[in-house]
Amino acid sequence: MAAPLKLDVVIVGAGLAGIATAFRMGHDGHRVRVVDDREQSERGCTGAHIPPNATKILTDWGFKKDVESSGNPLSRGTFYSMDTGELIGRQTWREEVMRELGANQHYMHYQDLYTMLYKAAVNIGVNIRFGKRVVNVETDLERPRVTLADRTILEADLIIGADGPNSFVRRTLFGDGPVNFEGHTLFTGVIPMELIKKDTELSNLCRSDRAEWPIWIDSSRHSEGALVRNETEFALHVFYPNDELSAADDSCWEGKPVPGRPPNTIDPKLHRLVDMCPEMHRQKLIIRQGPEEWTDDSGKIILIGQAAHPIHPCWVLSCSVHLEDAETLGTLLSRITDLDQLPGLLEGFQEVGGRRARYIRDISWQEIVGPLWLSPGPARNMRDEALRKADDDSDWDDAMMRKQFDGFYAALGYNARDAADDWWTTWGLLRERSKSVYLDEILDNFTPFGITMEEAVHSHGA
Ligand SMILES: Cc1cc2nc3c(=O)[nH]c(=O)nc-3n(C[C@H](O)[C@H](O)[C@H](O)COP(=O)(O)OP(=O)(O)OC[C@H]3O[C@@H](n4cnc5c(N)ncnc54)[C@H](O)[C@@H]3O)c2cc1C
Repeated sequence: MAAPLKLDVVIVGAGLAGIATAFRMGHDGHRVRVVDDREQSERGCTGAHIPPNATKILTDWGFKKDVESSGNPLSRGTFYSMDTGELIGRQTWREEVMRELGANQHYMHYQDLYTMLYKAAVNIGVNIRFGKRVVNVETDLERPRVTLADRTILEADLIIGADGPNSFVRRTLFGDGPVNFEGHTLFTGVIPMELIKKDTELSNLCRSDRAEWPIWIDSSRHSEGALVRNETEFALHVFYPNDELSAADDSCWEGKPVPGRPPNTIDPKLHRLVDMCPEMHRQKLIIRQGPEEWTDDSGKIILIGQAAHPIHPCWVLSCSVHLEDAETLGTLLSRITDLDQLPGLLEGFQEVGGRRARYIRDISWQEIVGPLWLSPGPARNMRDEALRKADDDSDWDDAMMRKQFDGFYAALGYNARDAADDWWTTWGLLRERSKSVYLDEILDNFTPFGITMEEAVHSHGA
């Protein structure tokens, strides 16, 4: 949808959130400039989930074929014990479930996802400059502006802070919140399929003809992998408790991935996959408290992505939530007809995006990872029994599976555009109507005396 009013926008940060938003807003005709202090090449080292909520967005944006050709649809989770490698059961996402979710689940190499959006943004005229660090942000001026390290000043109607978990824009506006370790370390890597194919047992784990998605589960740790890059590579993620790692290492990857491999206390098959990875990276998971507000009093600046709502990388919603930010903000700003509406629309973004971010932060991590991390006991036995039954299609226990994985479905069925449209219909239009009712009242008072609308508004403001 072409926005009636074309905004002049500066985005600080060309990560996934910044690039996706640049594309979405550029597509609506806004003039978008992006600056980033890094080089473009340093993006992505492993796979990224494209769950149904993200597939919907990318399909709406015209990337259906790219997503489908990049990785396989994942419709069959195969669960193994991470300890022994024993098969626990399978969970096939039935057609009716996929219909309910509205789209398929895929996996892409993060770099491919990034490059696809980056190229599309450049093609529609978004101006992206790398190697440019923002060193100052001012919003108390008629037009907000950022200053770069080389002293260039960029003014705009709207500044978007998409500068990641350690956001400079956020720190400048609101200071920083507390940072704590979540308790797990994530290990990631990508294995060429030509290596895996030499090992029959391993190549059976990731058969593309069965849309296989192997998931290893155990108390407080899990691992998963999927095919990417037209089935030529297999991306692997391993989540491991910090207190089971020997080296006391507090470094974490918030900027650049650091090398590291998980210890050899896992299913031998999984360990063979780890050994085959040409390189692996590790990252201690951090819980970084996001700011209460995403916009300041000026109503001319907004935080998005990791800067607004930090999230753990490489789990099922990590990338989709950034695409959702782009879609939500883009949908709301596609309605703008007057610059005066900007603060209200940014509040709308915070309301819709904030609700979603809180759900993801407070509920879905536990609801999605919780069932994977059960200690031995009745709950784990129930889960395993449900997975075993699900493996045999004739004995599908829908109620049991729903009980175990309900949060999962709720998280993946979200539609960012619908959520933004709902806000607009319920609150955005109400604001517009209340403004015009107010204006009508003013006009009723003045037009009898032959005063024009412009004079009436001016006279009221005086
Ligand atoms: C190098 C890298 C590799 C990743 N690889 C994967 C992966 O393989 N799989 C996966 O699922 N997730 C991956 N992630 C995921 C990531 O953790 C986020 O979920 C995702 O990138 C979206 O975050 P974002 O765009 O909000 O922030 P970021 O990706 O952190 O992007 C923020 C950008 O802002 C820039 N910036 C910061 N301060 C300034 C400043 N003052 N001036 C100008 N620019 C500034 C940063 O350099 C950065 O480029 C990766 C992230 C990074 C940074």
